[in-house]
Amino acid sequence: MSTALVLFRQDLRLSDNAALTAACLAHERVLPVYIHAPSEHSPWQPGAASRWWLHHSLQALRGQLGAQGGDLHLIAGAPLDCLRDLIRASGATEIHWNRRCEPAAIAGDTVLKAALREDGIAVHSHAGGLWSEPWTLATDAGQPYRVFTPYWRKLRARLPDPAPLPAPRAREWLRLPGSLPTAALGLLPAIRWDAGLQASWTPGEAGAQELLEIFADDAVSDYAKGRDLPARHGTSRLSPHLHFGEITPAQIQRTLQDRAARSGSRQRPDLEPYLRELGWREFAHHLLYHFPHTPEANFNPRFDAFRWAETDALSLERWQRGRTGIPLVDAGMRELWHTGWMHNRVRMVAASFLTKNLRQHWRHGASWFWDTLVDADLANNTLGWQWVAGCGADAAPYFRVFNPYLQAARFDPDAAYLKRWLPELASLPAKALHEAWRHPAALAAKGYPAPMVDLGASRDAALAAWGAMPA
Ligand code: FAD
Repeated sequence: MSTALVLFRQDLRLSDNAALTAACLAHERVLPVYIHAPSEHSPWQPGAASRWWLHHSLQALRGQLGAQGGDLHLIAGAPLDCLRDLIRASGATEIHWNRRCEPAAIAGDTVLKAALREDGIAVHSHAGGLWSEPWTLATDAGQPYRVFTPYWRKLRARLPDPAPLPAPRAREWLRLPGSLPTAALGLLPAIRWDAGLQASWTPGEAGAQELLEIFADDAVSDYAKGRDLPARHGTSRLSPHLHFGEITPAQIQRTLQDRAARSGSRQRPDLEPYLRELGWREFAHHLLYHFPHTPEANFNPRFDAFRWAETDALSLERWQRGRTGIPLVDAGMRELWHTGWMHNRVRMVAASFLTKNLRQHWRHGASWFWDTLVDADLANNTLGWQWVAGCGADAAPYFRVFNPYLQAARFDPDAAYLKRWLPELASLPAKALHEAWRHPAALAAKGYPAPMVDLGASRDAALAAWGAMPA
C-alpha cells in the first residue's frame, strides 16, 4: 500500500491545497503532519498573537481531518529528525509540501529536501498560497520589480481564470501513535490576555470562508471608498487567514467573480480595487524573495545614514499602549492590542507618527506589530513599515508625514472609530476629538493624556533630518 506524508506549514486548509491533492491522488494512504519547530533558525519566530492564531488554526484543521476519520499528526522537534521517524513508522515513500518564500523557510526547505532525497524519499514541492510565485515575474530587463504599478500590470494581465482545487479525500487517512495534543505546543498565552482575540476571530478554513461570504455579500461593492473608513467593516479582514494559508487568492477571486457574474449588470461590483490590494501582497512577497535582507535593513541604502532619534523606551511604550495623546494613533494602537488587527489607514498613521513625529526606527514598530498582529506577515509587515518610513521599494516619500488630526476628520468624520477605542472620550463631540489640541482641559478631565509631542515641530525636525541625509 503506497503511503505519502503531507507536511503542513503556512497552508492550514484542505481545499485548494496542491500538496494535499497530489498526495491523495497518487497514494492509498496519506499522513497529514505538522511539525512545531521553534528552534528553526529564523529570527522571526511567530509573535504572541500569531501563536494564539496558530493554536486555533491547528485545532480547526484537526477537526476537519477528524471528521473524515483522520488527524493532523502533530510533533515537535527538528523537522528532518521528525520526518525520518515518521517515514520509518509509516513506510512512506513520498513527501508533499507547499512552498513558502520567507528567506529562513526557503533555506530550511532546501536542506530538508536534499537530505530526504539522499534518504531515497521522493520530495514534491507545490505552489502555495500566492497567485504567482516571486521568481516567475521579472521586468523586461530580467530584473526583480521595485515599483508596484508595472509589477501589478504584468501580474494582472497574467492572472488566469481561477480554478481552485476542491478539498480532496484520501482513500485512507493514516493515523500513527505519538501525535501531540495541540495544547502541548504551548502556543496559548500563560496569562489569558486573549479574550479580545477570541471575540474577534474564528481561525481556520471555515472562518475564512465565512468572512469571504460576508465581504462578497456586502462590503466588496463599496470597497474603493469603504476601505478607508476605519469605523466600518469596509475591508475583508482576511489578512490573518491569508497569512496562515487558510484561504488562497485564487479562492477569493473565484468567489468574488462568481458572485459578481450573478449580480445584475447595474449592481455588478468593480473587483479591481480589491484584486489590486491582493496584488500588493504578491508584490510584498516578490520583494521579500528577491531582497531577503529587508526585514532588518533599509531597502533604500540612502537611509542607512538617516539620523533616527535615540531609542526611547518610554516613548515606545506610550505608543504601544495607546497613550500618545494623539487620538487616532491611540485608537489604532488599542484596536491592535485588543483584537490583534488594525485598520490599514490607521496602521499608516500610527507608523508615520512613530517613524516621523517620534523619529523612532521603523524596526521598533515592525517588531511590535510582529508580536501583536494576528496577521503578522514578514513580507507584508516589512513592506508596510518601509513604505511608511520612506526607505522601502516604491515607498511613500519621507516628506509625506500623515497628520493624524486631518486623517481622523476626513476618514472618521463622526469619530465613531475614535470613540469605540477611546471610550473615555466617548461623551465628547467629534470636533473635540478631531481638534484635540484646542481642548486640552476637556480631554485631561477624562483622564486622557496631553499629546506627547507637538505635531508641527516634530514634523519639521523629521524633515530637517531627512534633508540632512547625503543624497
Ligand atoms: P483588505 O483591504 O481586505 O485587503 C485584502 C488583502 O490584501 C489583505 O488581507 C492583505 O493580504 C492584502 N493587502 C491589503 N493591503 C495590503 C498592503 N498594503 N500590503 C500588502 N498586502 C495588502 N498586512 C499583513 O497581512 N500583515 C502585516 O504584518 C502587515 N503589516 C503592516 C504594517 C504597516 C505599517 C502597514 C501600513 C500595513 C501592513 N499590512 C500588513 C498591510 C495591510 O494593512 C493589511 O494587509 C490589511 O489591513 C489587512 O486587512 P484586510 O484583510 O481587511 O485587508
